[in-house]
Amino acid sequence: MNIGLVAHDGKKKLMQNFCVAYRQILGKHTIYATGTTGRLIEEAAGLTVHKYLSGHLGGEQQMAAQIEHGEMDLVIFLRDPENKNPHETDLKSVIRLCDVYNIPLATNLASAELLLTSLSR
Ligand code: PGA
Repeated sequence: MNIGLVAHDGKKKLMQNFCVAYRQILGKHTIYATGTTGRLIEEAAGLTVHKYLSGHLGGEQQMAAQIEHGEMDLVIFLRDPENKNPHETDLKSVIRLCDVYNIPLATNLASAELLLTSLSR
């Protein structure tokens, strides 16, 4: 499966810890991530990550395009509800496309864990 990962700055450490904890499951799939998130995941979990551009340079738009092309199977977007993100519209567009194309989407840790554990069954 193709799995897309994004974390806002306030959630990047959480994403790293999540990927370390679930590296066995994630390692069986193809991982895509926005630039900085992807680099941090590679450093922390040693996973191979296909990296888009950084979020502020259009990485989330690249992820959105991949969803539109039917090439994404699951998205984990750890958004930071405490901080207004400067490119909020990109987040909305990824969420909207997941709903349009019926792609499983988690925006917080609890749902991300449920999705990944269901993958391992
Ligand atoms: P980044 O992008 O992983 O390149 O930081 C995500 C974001 O929009 O914060």
